[in-house]
Order: sequence, then structure tokens, then C-alpha cells
Amino acid sequence: MKIKQINPNEKVAILVGKLIDGITNQPQQKQAILIEEGKIKKIIAQEKYFNQNFEPYEQLTLNNFTILPGLIDAHVHLALDGANFKKTIEEWKSPVKTNKRITKQLTATLQQGIVAVRDGGDRANIALNYQQKVASSSTLIPKIIATGQAIYKEDHYGSFLGTAVKTKSDLKRRIKEIYNSGSDQLKVLVSGIISFSNYGEVGEIQFSEQELKRIVALARQYGLKVMAHASSDQAVRRAIKAEVDSIEHGYFISKESLKLLAETQIPWIPTVVPVANQLLVADEYSPNQQEVIKKSYHTQLEMIDKGADLGVKLGIGTDAGAYQVKHGHSLWQELNLFNQTSLSPLEIIKVATYSNAQIIGQSELGSIQKSKKPQLIGVKGDPTQDLSLLKNPELLIY
Ligand SMILES: [Zn+2]
Repeated sequence: MKIKQINPNEKVAILVGKLIDGITNQPQQKQAILIEEGKIKKIIAQEKYFNQNFEPYEQLTLNNFTILPGLIDAHVHLALDGANFKKTIEEWKSPVKTNKRITKQLTATLQQGIVAVRDGGDRANIALNYQQKVASSSTLIPKIIATGQAIYKEDHYGSFLGTAVKTKSDLKRRIKEIYNSGSDQLKVLVSGIISFSNYGEVGEIQFSEQELKRIVALARQYGLKVMAHASSDQAVRRAIKAEVDSIEHGYFISKESLKLLAETQIPWIPTVVPVANQLLVADEYSPNQQEVIKKSYHTQLEMIDKGADLGVKLGIGTDAGAYQVKHGHSLWQELNLFNQTSLSPLEIIKVATYSNAQIIGQSELGSIQKSKKPQLIGVKGDPTQDLSLLKNPELLIY
């Protein structure tokens, strides 16, 4: 991928063959994007551009390209590498090594045209520390929205993701500590994880409705959004009732819950790829497990379809760092899975750009509009006809 950086003192006119702005329902032909002082000043038809005098602009002609907003991954775990869980947790003891690995992962992520990632947390504050200490303006990496430590109920799933809470006062103390550590949001584990052995099994629910409501209220006091890991329909329902800000995973979600999501407009990030990618290492699973994996992710795709029909606000996240989910490349795999539903390529692109930007609270990203910072990607051809062009975006304008 070619990376073109535009400095704030440069005036650049990008002439594009097709423009997908992340909002409109159709690509626009032959546009000129005028950039000044590091921001998009104007988007006009090329015809108009040529009729007027934009002399001081440096011209970048990309008429055989489609330009679209940089992609966003709404759910990653920077602390994990997607390959060897035990080894990685051991590696956390050497921060220099870990940080080097994360920089590598994030470079690969940017190479996929991903300009922002939202991290889902880790016990050792790896991603948060990286965001605060290592990420600097000199390293070209995606923007990181960090969680720090997630909260989970004592004796339940989530020990590598955060710290356990037991009592009311634990909750209050922990959420205050998380806020003070500089986290951008609060991640709460409402359930366990999906089973690859027994279809439909998702682990025990962790918090009562009352506890969840209390968690959300405390988070709001600190201005933190709540990202809820909810792997069963029951967990999803509880998270909706507690008015969390996003539902992650939602495996085996029911039609009734989808209706509630549509009503409340709480976004749903279905993360299909951490299930589907297990088939890349099918020989590590028994034939029965392989069937469970297949059936589980097919069900998830069906529910995405139903959700879209009902008007559910969708987001796209990969859970990158989970077993067999590679940082960067997995977003393309998730997009490709979404492409197996009845959503059109353009609809999928809008979810991965505009919708994701809203979900991660970065509204300056996700669309190509006047007065926004240009963070654009380019592909040769038309991704609304062939989504696979997003597998390897050719150009990043940053
Ligand atoms: Zn996760």
C-alpha cells in the first residue's frame, strides 16, 4: 500500500473517479476533494473544479480510483496476537517485547486501510499503556480507543480481560480507578464465551439487571461509554435493559432482542470472524465441533440479515487477537462474512466507516465531508461492485 501524507501547510486537490463518502447511498462520479490546513475544505464536481481557478492546489489525479473513508475495527484486543494465547500472556512480563509486537500489529492494521481501532481490554493494561506511552505522532498507526481493564464478576469468565468485582463497593471503586487510569470507555462482561463443542452454549450470565444498571450509571457519572460483552440472548436482553452503549458478539440473539435493538438504536457488533476462522484450523477440532462452529456462525449471519431488515444499527468488529483472528487482515474477513448476508457492499462499507465511527465515539472519522480531517483509502475499481477490492487497499491518504 502507498501512503500519502498531507501536511497541514499543503493545499491539495484530489481528483477522484468515484467517491464513497460513507453517508450517501451512491458513489459520486468525478469529484474533486480540496484539502487545506489539514482539513477537507470543499468537495466539488471535477467539472466545476476545472472551470474555477484553484491554482495554488497541488493536484493528485486518481481518476481510476474509488476513494472512501478509512475503515474502522470496532473490537480488537491489542494485547493478544491471535496465535498463541499462553505465550502472549507470558510475554506481557516484558513490555518492550509486547510493545514492539503491538506496533507491528498496528502497522499491519493500517496497511489494511484501518485508521482506528477500539480495544476491548486486557488485565495488564497493555493496550491502554501502549496508547498513552508508546503511540506518538511519529509512528504512523491507527487511532486507538482504549479500554484498559474490563470488569467481570468474581469467579466468572474474563480473568485475562480485566479485574473481578464482587460487591457494590467494589464496583464503585473499580469504575473510579478505571476512569482515573485514563480509559476511554468501560467494558463489562455480561456473559461467558461461545462454546465450540455444544451448539448454543454461551456460558453463565454474570451480573443481575440491577447490577448492570448500576454499572452503567456509574460509568455515565464519569462520562464513559459502556461496551458490553454479551454472548447469549439473555445477556443481550439484560444489556439492552441496562441501556449499555454497544452490544458485542450477541451470539444466538433472538428476533425479539433484535427488535429491541432496533427500537433503542443500541448498536450491535456481531463479531463473526472469531467463530468462522476456527475452520482455518479445522483439524484442531472434532467433526462434531466443526459442525457446531459452522452452524453457530451461519446462525449469526442470518441474525445480521434479520437485524438489518429490522433497522438494527450494526457495527463491524473482529475481536482481533482472539485465536486465529489476525490484526488487520481479519477486518477484510469480517467484511467478507457480512457480504454473505443480503447487505450490499455499499451498506457494508457504511457500517465499517460511518457507523463504526459513531460507535467508537470518533465522529471526525468515518465519512468524507467538509471540515473533516482527510483519512481516506483508495482502491482501483469499484468496491460497490467488488467488495474484495478492500482486501488490499492500494492507497492511504492521511
Ligand atoms: Zn473481545
